[in-house]
Amino acid sequence: MVVIGAGQAGLSAAHHLRRRGLRPFDDFVVLDADPAPGGAWQHRPSSLTMAMVHGFHELPDSPLPPLAPQLPARDVLPDYFAAYERDHELPVLRPVTVTSVRSESADPHARLLVQGDGGRVWSTRALINATGTWTRPFVPRYPGAERFRGRMLHSSAYRGPEEFGGTGTVLVVGGGASAVQILAETAAVARTLWVTRRPPVFRDDPFVPEELGRAAVAMVEERVRAGLPPRSVVSVTGLPPSPALLLARERDALHRLPMFEHITEHGVVWPDGHEELVDVIVWATGFRAAIGHLAPLGLREAGGGIRMDGTQAARDPRIHLVGYGPSASTIGANRAGRAAAVAVDRYLTSTAAPAALASAH
Ligand SMILES: Cc1cc2nc3c(=O)[nH]c(=O)nc-3n(C[C@H](O)[C@H](O)[C@H](O)COP(=O)(O)OP(=O)(O)OC[C@H]3O[C@@H](n4cnc5c(N)ncnc54)[C@H](O)[C@@H]3O)c2cc1C
Repeated sequence: MVVIGAGQAGLSAAHHLRRRGLRPFDDFVVLDADPAPGGAWQHRPSSLTMAMVHGFHELPDSPLPPLAPQLPARDVLPDYFAAYERDHELPVLRPVTVTSVRSESADPHARLLVQGDGGRVWSTRALINATGTWTRPFVPRYPGAERFRGRMLHSSAYRGPEEFGGTGTVLVVGGGASAVQILAETAAVARTLWVTRRPPVFRDDPFVPEELGRAAVAMVEERVRAGLPPRSVVSVTGLPPSPALLLARERDALHRLPMFEHITEHGVVWPDGHEELVDVIVWATGFRAAIGHLAPLGLREAGGGIRMDGTQAARDPRIHLVGYGPSASTIGANRAGRAAAVAVDRYLTSTAAPAALASAH
């Protein structure tokens, strides 16, 4: 058995595989592209403190120690993940970037060949993919972008407001939590503008009510069951009054404008001809699932997504995706990891064959 990715979803899956009796290294391994534990948390900007992190769910069976709210999540959560891997004796191999997964033959239960970037290949009967989205930032196309003389960056490359000090105007695109955080911080050092496709929905209560959370997850679940690419849940849950949102409001940075029509050398232009000169455009426009390495398996539907049945790829009982679509949150990743481990264990038992894992080369 191979798990790809050692973020929240992959570690939850690995933990539950162990609990079900699969032996680390003999029966399964976790391949992770990052140089150190922590999944995507190790790459988040240092301005994302624990106080800013909302609704973080700890890894299964491992309480998060009390942490000072002012500490950056990128420092404390990777330490917690590292201790988890160690204490639960999880067989993580890193850095290994999986470049492709293909089937040994057309037999629906054939072994899968998992190709690592170092040339090593793992041969496995089943696979849990937990590669998240961080490595696939999404930037929508707008006419004129290639002519822009200022700086353009995706929110994943944002390192903190210091880099915008002395900049004229910073335009932030996007209606999610990242956009709000960047606006809140940047408003202290530069003029900001905010554009979103749809008017943002501001919530009054700090926590997403359970029924709304469930509705958001159900919406994304429906999409992936139909083979459509998953969508962000924020469009359903709205923006809660997080510390970042309150700060952005205090700094008067939440005057949302509709999407511009095109980009010029020095700014952006709306359909009515109004132009704003800007120096920086930050695309806080989300991510796509990092699943390019699964392409040889031909799992994608015409709609562009992988049709899912729970955590299993509907077309292929050997493949599970966790942290994908409806389970792309820390709580969803925990649950999906467990569900996938249970399903894979059953699959391996029902299609009896010798060793679950073999390193081919
Ligand atoms: C800025 C930001 C803030 C967030 N804040 C919160 C929050 O406050 N509360 C909350 O609940 N959720 C939050 N989330 C969402 C939450 O972080 C994620 O849903 C969850 O942590 C993702 O876990 P994951 O295991 O799916 O992915 P990741 O943590 O991204 O882990 C994926 C792992 O897979 C590895 N990998 C990727 N590709 C390959 C490959 N080809 N081969 C081998 N390994 C590979 C990576 O190295 C990485 O270690 C936030 C997300 C972002 C972007």
